[in-house]
Amino acid sequence: MTEGRKCPWSSGPAPCGGCCGDVSHYEKTLAVKLKSVRKTLAGLCVPERIVGAEKPLYYRNKVHRVLVPGERGQVISGIYQAGTHRVIPVKRCLIEDEKAQAVIADTVELIWKFHYEIYDEDTGRGLLRHVLVRTAHASGELMLILVAASNFLPGQKSFVREILRLHPEITTIVLSENRKRTTLVMGDREKVLYGPGFIRDKLCGRTFRISAGSFYQINSPQTEKLYREAVRMAGLDGTQTVIDAYCGIGTIGLCAADKAALVLGAELNGQAASDAVRNIHENDLKNVRVLKADAGDFLEILAGKPETQADRTVLFLDPPRSGATEKFLKSALRLAPAKIVYISCGPESLARDLKRLLGRYRVKEAEAFDMFPFTREHVETLVCLERKK
Ligand code: SAH
Repeated sequence: MTEGRKCPWSSGPAPCGGCCGDVSHYEKTLAVKLKSVRKTLAGLCVPERIVGAEKPLYYRNKVHRVLVPGERGQVISGIYQAGTHRVIPVKRCLIEDEKAQAVIADTVELIWKFHYEIYDEDTGRGLLRHVLVRTAHASGELMLILVAASNFLPGQKSFVREILRLHPEITTIVLSENRKRTTLVMGDREKVLYGPGFIRDKLCGRTFRISAGSFYQINSPQTEKLYREAVRMAGLDGTQTVIDAYCGIGTIGLCAADKAALVLGAELNGQAASDAVRNIHENDLKNVRVLKADAGDFLEILAGKPETQADRTVLFLDPPRSGATEKFLKSALRLAPAKIVYISCGPESLARDLKRLLGRYRVKEAEAFDMFPFTREHVETLVCLERKK
């Protein structure tokens, strides 16, 4: 299906570095990724296979463009070149959701028509900084996010009316206020310009609300496969306590809830933690609790409680690319749950953390997942560890 497709922006590697430029041979890229992750994890664990995507193109449900002022007053929209702060103009991308790209293109056009000033990173002056779109694959709901150095856009009512006329599929519009001279995209304050301020998606039969600032996996069909495998590997029989560390909006814990006695989640980001709490109620689950907390602090408390039954506990963790913290690993070893299911998007940090855990644990199963097809090096790893006797 992907035979002979090349990034329209380059004959060689894509200039932005987002994908590998040539999207001709998907199977080959899978083999390369599996080999690479096996190499990084050599001596620790051997992922048996890599689970590829049915649709390796146009899968990114979150699309982001940085806005830069052009020399002749035009609006340039692009993405940061991989590993740099250089903006590469992008009109069309082969791995991003097509509808989201169409919404972004028309939003950028409208920004120009409305004469909104584009933020200049060097001087710190100007208004609009970024445009993002998030789509929900199951419901079709679509969120438009404008990041501005203000909490107000002149003529914002007409702007909203115009963009909705062009794209009635937009279900919510959020203005994120970011005045800081920072490389972070989202600001810390939000104003809802239209709709409820979040979108809802479905994963593994559960409904999830996703706010603008909450983490959500960017490839939904692959995420469902990953979570199903993670829950299967955990071997839950309805009697265990599941800890969902680094839980985001609660996705893994909620998908495991009907096979567990109790689910306890911990998430540091306030918006994501509050989405998780709402998701528990919206899915009518009585056996799930989520706390806004550092996962290491949370685990330390659980490890210190005499009533925590390690033999009946399964620990899921899905940390950021930097991996788990030292405090987290120390507490995990002290708690010593029967199983640990580690989902990792960073093979290097996974290797480091496995080295710490493998004295007490052995690898039961491991698989790789291609969550980001046609990107050069990104690969997700799922490892199930069981405590040694
Ligand atoms: N399991 C979720 C989220 C994984 S991403 C999912 O699959 O959707 C990692 C999450 O860890 C993010 O939501 C991030 O906000 C959160 N996080 C980062 N550092 C943390 C910490 N020290 N303690 C708890 N959560 C943390």
